[in-house]
Amino acid sequence: MDNFNCWYQSIENSNNKYPIEEILYRCPETNSLLEVTHDLEALAKYDSKYWKDLFDSRYRKQNWPYGSGVWGKKEWVVPFIKDENIVSMYEGGTNLFWAERYGAQVGVEDLWIKMCGNSHTGSFKDLGMTVLVSAVKQLISNGKNISAVACASTGDTSAALSAYCAAAGIKSIVFLPKNKVSVAQLVQPLANGATVLSIDSDFDGCMKIVQKVCEEKNIYLANSINSLRIEGQKTISIELCQQFNWEIPDWVIIPGGNLGNISALGKGFLMLRDLGLIKKLPRLVCAQAENANPLYLSYLNNFENFESVKAKTTLANAIQIGDPVSVKKAIKILKEFDGIVEQASEDELASSTAKVDLTGTFNCPHTGVAITAFEKLVKKNVIKKNDKVVIISTAHGLKFVDSKIDYHLGNLSDISSTFSNLPIDVDNSIDKVLSVLDKHL
Ligand SMILES: *Cc1c(COP(=O)(O)O)cnc(C)c1O
Repeated sequence: MDNFNCWYQSIENSNNKYPIEEILYRCPETNSLLEVTHDLEALAKYDSKYWKDLFDSRYRKQNWPYGSGVWGKKEWVVPFIKDENIVSMYEGGTNLFWAERYGAQVGVEDLWIKMCGNSHTGSFKDLGMTVLVSAVKQLISNGKNISAVACASTGDTSAALSAYCAAAGIKSIVFLPKNKVSVAQLVQPLANGATVLSIDSDFDGCMKIVQKVCEEKNIYLANSINSLRIEGQKTISIELCQQFNWEIPDWVIIPGGNLGNISALGKGFLMLRDLGLIKKLPRLVCAQAENANPLYLSYLNNFENFESVKAKTTLANAIQIGDPVSVKKAIKILKEFDGIVEQASEDELASSTAKVDLTGTFNCPHTGVAITAFEKLVKKNVIKKNDKVVIISTAHGLKFVDSKIDYHLGNLSDISSTFSNLPIDVDNSIDKVLSVLDKHL
């Protein structure tokens, strides 16, 4: 195999390049974020047919690790990782669900939901974490002194980090905002043996602490400020085009909090275009919870300025972020993709989640935010009836059963449980059961 190369590059000055096997989170000169940049010339020696055939030949096969949706695209992701250092749990390869019944209700028939939560730890975070933990394993085998890997998390990052670290035998430390993550999110790092620090703060507060801790100790930082994760997550775009037999959707809608994933999505499409696998770009929509909407506010201002906000409580707790780390990357991507930012109130997101569940999905509240954005854009006639639309579902609904059951029980203040469905208590009697069923058939 050729020597495909990548390196770290400052997002503000493309002359600032650094070796990929250094431990770096920010550009030492400008302090800006870094991105992993690939030697596109070397990759372009092979034509688009070569790459499509290669990716298709590996997709969802058992030839470890290339059956993984991430490692099947290894040459485009992190070619420098040796196979023996790869820590993979068969991430990616998730269902691209044709939302036929829901789409018909809205009048958009070419509507698809990419179920990124159908994954080892139940969210798309696995896509990035397999790359990051594999890189750490390689750094350690190269003799770097790394005692543990740490992250601040709104729940899903810590679940992914602790699972991949446990699989690799590397110590993990997670910083969680106290009482702000679901039980399902808390139990995963506990079960996987992470050191779990419950901090009396919010995500933004935990983020400040973990960055400081990683500076002080030889602990590796796993938050999405770390550009390696973006490389794994960008395979979402590659995979969904592949699932459409390399046809491009008109729209991709994704919920955004720290804004790494919208940046990753765009990066994947740009690479597909630059290497000739697709000819045009979709339009991207980033959907935020109204209670944590700094990007939306900036969008209203044509991105002329950006101000962080104090994030308020939202059912979409994984995007309860007021000071997103990847905002510059996200704005750059949104400009390039003629992007839109929409927002959803608590009532809207809860209602969207429940409504679409009634057509066979089992959505997380973040997906509900994206669904609300979709409906708003259809109503405004921005998204047209014949457009091909993909909604990115970011986590499995089973991680959010507490808020989903509260919705159905009508326990959420200020939220109308319009689509509530409750169990019916019936006496232990055939006649009673039959008479109840008469009312429901
Ligand atoms: C992390 C996460 C998001 C937000 O992704 P960002 O990269 O932080 O914008 C959305 N939904 C779920 C379920 C997540 O875990």
